[in-house]
Amino acid sequence: MDAAIVDIRDAWKSYHLEEVEIPAVRGVSLAIPAGQFVAVTGASGSGKSTFLHLVGCLDRLDRGAYLFEGQPVESLSRRQLAALRNRRIGFIFQSFNLLARTTILDNVALPLSYQGVERRERRRRAAEMLERVGLSERLTHHPNQLSGGQQQRVAIARALVTRPAVLLADEPTGNLDSVTSQEIMGVLQAVNRQQSVSIILVTHENDIAAYAERQVVFRDGLIVRDVCGTAA
Ligand code: ADP
Ligand code: MG
Repeated sequence: MDAAIVDIRDAWKSYHLEEVEIPAVRGVSLAIPAGQFVAVTGASGSGKSTFLHLVGCLDRLDRGAYLFEGQPVESLSRRQLAALRNRRIGFIFQSFNLLARTTILDNVALPLSYQGVERRERRRRAAEMLERVGLSERLTHHPNQLSGGQQQRVAIARALVTRPAVLLADEPTGNLDSVTSQEIMGVLQAVNRQQSVSIILVTHENDIAAYAERQVVFRDGLIVRDVCGTAA
């Protein structure tokens, strides 16, 4: 078997509201090989987003173990974690999260500035990524001049410009109509195949999940189903 990019063992995570403990992830184990495209589905409140936050090192496990590219995440300092998130992990969300007053070229180039990449090179790599997602004619536009589907393409380019090992997507088609959703899934499928980036995509729609090669289903903070099937 290929080495796992993400290897989570018996992960637990609760939230605390005053005196009340809300268990969100209750003993989840999942190993994801390099290049795999995984869909995570399940009812609202089943722990999908909490799990994705753990995978993305946005939050720490209460209990359990997490190896990212073979390295125990628990042993990393805050600075090392921030570097790991910036270099190895890309994120996209339902609400694009683009900077409104910034051109799409500079939106996509931004993650590279945290790596100290020089401006010319940043812009060259950003333009290249935008071309891959079909937006090379739009480099100087601002996000509000683009459709929702185009804005999500920008967010995908921004997430991939650092050449991460894994792309995490939380309901990325949640704000898009069904035709645009299919287009975005086509873009994700292409980058998964061409750039061998692993993708973990959270969705509550089965036709969206069908684009992935593996389906993981959450219920009440647990994985209740984990099947591999051929991609759509
Ligand atoms: P999903 O993404 O599948 O809808 P979540 O991971 O967002 O599920 O939520 C799992 C559980 O944790 C739910 O019971 C939810 O209400 C609770 N929860 C999520 N985020 C918070 C938070 N910030 N504070 C308190 N409870 C939360
Ligand atoms: Mg969620």
